Amino acid sequence: MTTDTHALPAALGGTPAFPDGLPLTRVRVPDRAALLERLGSVLDSGQLTNGRTVAELEEAAAKLLDVPHAVAVSNCTAGLMLVLQAAGVGDGRPVVMPGFTFSATAHAAHWAGGTPLFAEAREQDVTLDPEDAAAVLATADRPAALMATHVYGTPCQVERLQEVADAAGVPLVYDSAHGFGSVRRGVPVGNFGYAEVFSMSPTKVAVAGEGGLVATHDAELAQRLRHARDYGNPGDYDTLFPGLNARMSELHAAVGLNWLAGLPERVAHRGALVAEFGAATAGLPGLRLALPEAGDTSTFKDLTLMLDADAFGLSALRLADALRAEGIDSRRYFHPPVHRQRAYAHLGQAEALPRTDRLAASVLTVPLWSQMDAATVRRIADAVVRIQPYAERLRGD
Ligand SMILES: *Cc1c(COP(=O)(O)O)cnc(C)c1O
Repeated sequence: MTTDTHALPAALGGTPAFPDGLPLTRVRVPDRAALLERLGSVLDSGQLTNGRTVAELEEAAAKLLDVPHAVAVSNCTAGLMLVLQAAGVGDGRPVVMPGFTFSATAHAAHWAGGTPLFAEAREQDVTLDPEDAAAVLATADRPAALMATHVYGTPCQVERLQEVADAAGVPLVYDSAHGFGSVRRGVPVGNFGYAEVFSMSPTKVAVAGEGGLVATHDAELAQRLRHARDYGNPGDYDTLFPGLNARMSELHAAVGLNWLAGLPERVAHRGALVAEFGAATAGLPGLRLALPEAGDTSTFKDLTLMLDADAFGLSALRLADALRAEGIDSRRYFHPPVHRQRAYAHLGQAEALPRTDRLAASVLTVPLWSQMDAATVRRIADAVVRIQPYAERLRGD
């Protein structure tokens, strides 16, 4: 074994790849001057909510996504709650969804009055497995809806999921928090199912500070959501149903609008960085990336490694430790998966998804952001390449 200290992983005394540390994400406002001007005009207007900036954001988003209706909301979670309410979720009826998603997918179903019923993820890309969703729907007692998440921005198997939802007679709702800019077989994500709900919170690809956006082809749903985000108020304060305050403020809309300019270029850049990482780590045993199908576009909200711990020599947890020594931050998105979280222990589904459990144990998300340069992503990849041959020593067995 070599004793060249430059080649040693930092965890074994080598020089750290990033002595100053590399965070998981770095949020940098694009074109600050344009944003300040926009914020100035919001302040000048004297109208901080229910103004024209939100309308402008909705128009810009609808154009980018190529959808007839886009409704801005305060965040993705609230948007999902309101869409599920509109879809008839309630009375504790089951809402079938992946266990491999962010907790907010399940929380939204809960707050809409439904009960999460979890299904497996696909081995290839960790999006919802349509066949398992069909099996779970078939055994569910009066299921109310099917939800799916474009995990990391990887488009779901939308064609098959729609067939599955139609066969079960339930609406299909997408948690598209990661998917603003993703494309499935030439069609932008946002065009599928009953509605798709995007997040514009700071860890996502399109950012409003806090914010969400519902895309739909259903004019009636879009109209309802405009009331729903305003307490259910149609304008005369004689509310139609129990809504929320889920409005996006004008200030947030200004930030969001600023972020949408140049979004497709930033998504393309992220894809190029991931390709660079893939090329630099190709051939490492037991390592693959969560990638979209050939021809599809992912936003790569996250750059997630999937580790076969036996072949790679280290578990995701141990690799995270070794990367921390290099100064590289990482997260286990999504571990624990939602069906294993304490919030849903009472549902008794903790043992229901063995494949998802295995996949969740294998994931490790490493830093990626839209302004990252190729040299940085190569240095992250080099650190992983440097660590792997020392797996046995790092394990200490
Ligand atoms: C971030 C996230 C959400 C929640 O989005 P908010 O805008 O913060 O409410 C929902 N689902 C997924 C998959 C997410 O990653």
